[in-house]
Amino acid sequence: MVVMRRLLLLTLLLPSLASAETLFCESMLDVRRGRLVDQVLVTIDAGRIASVEVGAEAGDARVLEGLTCLPGLTDMHTHLTAEFGPRTYLERFQLNPADYAFRSAVYAERTLMAGFTTVRDLGDSYNVSIALKQAIAQGLVTGPRIFTAGKSLATTGGHADPTNGMRADLQGDAGPKQGVINGPADARKAVRQRYKDGADLIKITATGGVLSVASSGQNAQFSDEELAAIIETAKDYGFHVAAHAHGTEGMKRAIRAGVTTIEHGTYMDDETIDLFKRYGAWYVPTIIAGKWVEDKARVDGFFPEVVRPKAAAIGPLIQDTFGRAYKAGVKIVFGTDSGVSAHGDNAWEFVYMVAAGMPPAEAIRSATLSPAIVLGREDQQGAIEAGLVADIIAVPGNPLEDVGLLRDVRFVMKDGVIYKSPDAS
Ligand SMILES: [Zn+2]
Repeated sequence: MVVMRRLLLLTLLLPSLASAETLFCESMLDVRRGRLVDQVLVTIDAGRIASVEVGAEAGDARVLEGLTCLPGLTDMHTHLTAEFGPRTYLERFQLNPADYAFRSAVYAERTLMAGFTTVRDLGDSYNVSIALKQAIAQGLVTGPRIFTAGKSLATTGGHADPTNGMRADLQGDAGPKQGVINGPADARKAVRQRYKDGADLIKITATGGVLSVASSGQNAQFSDEELAAIIETAKDYGFHVAAHAHGTEGMKRAIRAGVTTIEHGTYMDDETIDLFKRYGAWYVPTIIAGKWVEDKARVDGFFPEVVRPKAAAIGPLIQDTFGRAYKAGVKIVFGTDSGVSAHGDNAWEFVYMVAAGMPPAEAIRSATLSPAIVLGREDQQGAIEAGLVADIIAVPGNPLEDVGLLRDVRFVMKDGVIYKSPDAS
């Protein structure tokens, strides 16, 4: 591992020396066709895939023996700046931004080592995810490529109001700068503030949520006028909008207003499914987060009492919602809400998706090709093909037969740099 870090450092200092690399994969998943191809030689130059040759000889390439290569995975819903635990509610009063920042560097590394070379981060505090994204891009911190919303937008008392549950004299009156809006003028200002902060997209909490200190996990929390102002302003800045939503009414309003993704989607009914299809919205399931809150709701004292019944009611429903949405033909893109569940456990989501009826090839596509579409990066990432970024991972065996193998990633390359390799650990 020490040798590996030295190599990494060298790579960062001398990118030209490390830019050319040739990999030989015993097999490779062709994500577009959903099948394996054998003996694949991949040449990498300056962080990009230069060529891919199937049925080739290894020559003097780096041989990934017994491994199946596939494109680096993308998780479209993470919170890299925190990880939930029994002390989380108290820590809001104890931790400084730097505490979250140091933790985020650890979570980012775990996420990358689990094979996730890109994440969309959906809500932080103190804009720590924006600093993290920049530190990773500069090579100072090891982690995935990040597209971040910065601070989520909510209405007063809404799911992402940062002062929920606080004593009256500590609440103040959070406004657009803190991500709390009331009315279209605030909505526009909050979006523009995210632009100024350096965010890549906008996250809104369209309905109540499980983990906020508030009674409803599903009420609609934005008016149509507020949603229209957010989406119209977001477009001016090239942002897409991701909407957290459990309840039906808030989900429908958000889809009609033109959000790109709906997160969780718990109480999706047939009418909502039709709206998804009519408007082309994507669904980000986060089944693992549902399982996690369901599990913790059984532990006395883990959650505040106002949170516990929401966790017990909403958690168990998400996997079934996912199954219905998939069968009905809703477009699905992979996301876990990691930071609720532990960072690095992201690939469990594949296991839950497949258990609910999605074939492994489609589940993997939802974490490779589909995120590239949502992020507007189809010409940059999502497959192992010439011209795309060299984000390549490998697992021991055939993930089309056992999708659980994705929890055992043995090789990770991002932008042509090797971060994990079986011959170095
Ligand atoms: Zn989330």
